[in-house]
Amino acid sequence: MDLTDYKEIRALLERHGFRFSKALGQNFLTAAWVPRDIAEAAGLDAETGVLEIGPGVGCLTRELSLRAGKVVSVELDRSLQPVLAETLTGCENVEVVFGDILKQDIPALLEETMPGLRHVVCANLPYNVTTPVLTALLGCGCFETLTVMIQREVARRICAPPNTPDYGAFGIFVQWHAQTELLFDVPPSCFVPQPKVTSSVIRLTRRASPPVPVTDEALLFRIVRAAFNQRRKTLVNALASQVPGVTKEMAGQTLEVLGYDTRIRGEALDIGGFAKITDKIRTIQNADL
Ligand code: SAM
Repeated sequence: MDLTDYKEIRALLERHGFRFSKALGQNFLTAAWVPRDIAEAAGLDAETGVLEIGPGVGCLTRELSLRAGKVVSVELDRSLQPVLAETLTGCENVEVVFGDILKQDIPALLEETMPGLRHVVCANLPYNVTTPVLTALLGCGCFETLTVMIQREVARRICAPPNTPDYGAFGIFVQWHAQTELLFDVPPSCFVPQPKVTSSVIRLTRRASPPVPVTDEALLFRIVRAAFNQRRKTLVNALASQVPGVTKEMAGQTLEVLGYDTRIRGEALDIGGFAKITDKIRTIQNADL
């Protein structure tokens, strides 16, 4: 069965009484080159265990199965159980786990289902949960790479450099944990039902260590979030109004000592700049104790 042929998918889903759920981000691929190219971009081999989120009818799952040592696919929609039982017949290295990816203990799942393999993620993500899913997958530190299809707009934000409109707190979080690559775009015509927006495939490669050293990572991200919560404010005003323990004087003094214009906005700073500011604020706060 061709799992990207619209007529075949429709007949299969009708046979099982399946109804598409918008809330679950169910846009299934109907162009054979897309799952093939996504799986190819994930760089798989027999030593690799792949975590897939949301197999749908299993078109990407089958491509992953051909290339990897093991595939574990987490699917929230239990009504896809009989569909996947049919479409993944013969894919001996695939295990489907029914549940919410956001509620999984990911390190425990990998240890239980794919011990001894190097772990990567490859998925056409449900767009409504892209940010929390990527936050959890990067935060757990279990994966060498994440090759995922997401909304183009979000992909651009993740890969954006400083001084661009797309640059923001989530992009800095991702870039802190991984090197980012924008691979290719996929038009709405490649899905059923068709989404309103274009999609992009990105690859995130986990960094062995953060891009720059910083004394207090939690404070760094509090400062980054504050800077972009109120993008139009100067950094001094954004930090003084949102970061506990930081006064306007302290923020101004920090920028001056580091040689920045005190009217600078967060969007002009790269990760190294944010780290330097974090370290300086931490030093001033420690001296005041
Ligand atoms: N992989 C298929 C494809 O490319 O055609 C389907 C991708 S579709 C964009 C997203 C899939 O994720 C759906 O099957 C949906 O039911 C599933 N899903 C949605 N939210 C989920 C969650 N929180 N945990 C696991 N799966 C989820």
